[in-house]
Amino acid sequence: MIVAGFDIGGTKSEVAFISLEEDSFKVLARDRIATERQRPYEELIIRLKDLFFQTMEIAGLQLNDIESIGIGMPGTIDPQSGIMLNGNSSVFVDRNISSDLKNTIGFSGSLYCENDANCFAYAEARFGAGKSFAKPFEQQTSVGIILGTGCGGGIIINGNVLQGHHGGAGEIGHSELYSAGHACYCGSKGCAEQYLSGPSLEAHFANRIYSQIDKRPSAQEIFELYDKKDPIAIAVVNSYFQDLAKFLGNLTNILAPDYFVLGGGVSLQPAIYSFFEKNTSPNLFIKGYPLHIFKHILGDSAGVIGAAVLGYERRSKCY
Ligand SMILES: [Zn+2]
Repeated sequence: MIVAGFDIGGTKSEVAFISLEEDSFKVLARDRIATERQRPYEELIIRLKDLFFQTMEIAGLQLNDIESIGIGMPGTIDPQSGIMLNGNSSVFVDRNISSDLKNTIGFSGSLYCENDANCFAYAEARFGAGKSFAKPFEQQTSVGIILGTGCGGGIIINGNVLQGHHGGAGEIGHSELYSAGHACYCGSKGCAEQYLSGPSLEAHFANRIYSQIDKRPSAQEIFELYDKKDPIAIAVVNSYFQDLAKFLGNLTNILAPDYFVLGGGVSLQPAIYSFFEKNTSPNLFIKGYPLHIFKHILGDSAGVIGAAVLGYERRSKCY
């Protein structure tokens, strides 16, 4: 069958058309645009519709070929209403993008919306990193973490996405890492996202160098400086690793997942995996617990694949 997925992020938005079989999938066509979340919501919906139809044409498909549509969103989606309750792209908060896209596209089939990190975690567990783990997918517990514009999380238990009350499970980026730490947009202080996202790493580095350079380096450039043994980059990146280790330790004490799978721009840095080959978390209750930390396998399309597949799996629960 043919299913479609959107992955709507704070920076970019992607659509994909996928041929789905029981244990495999094939991407027929996919494309992406800058989200431009500063623009009005109604304009964003039109741009997403245009992206959908242009990519569908490239795939050689008609609208009635599509069985279902799944949408990954950068925030908590209420499973009952489909409304996005919170997220770092405020333009989508309190909106029901499922019904708005369904009407704008003119789609008569089912359309399902899910948190983007849940989509990522599900796709990686079922088709990506989870395939290399010894247990079958249906018996795995895993946590997918996106270290990107924010710090999103998705929890998979026995092959199912843990949604929790009001879809709020897996918002691990808003668990407290530091008491009275940096203020977060969510209203709390010291949230993990304020220490583990790409922008937070960049801000930490910028604070250390003040006005010594004109342009603030990106997270990628900070890791390049780290590889060149720049002393400030070493201090900032080591601090980042300590925070990540503490964070993964907290999650392990709660869930003891079989493995973590990392996505997002920061996850591309090999230094993260080298660090965890030699170190573990300092706050593990069961000392010496091996943390299995995998890099994503499906590339930056894991989110859109997860959205498309979950859209089909949950087709009876659509709004
Ligand atoms: Zn927060």
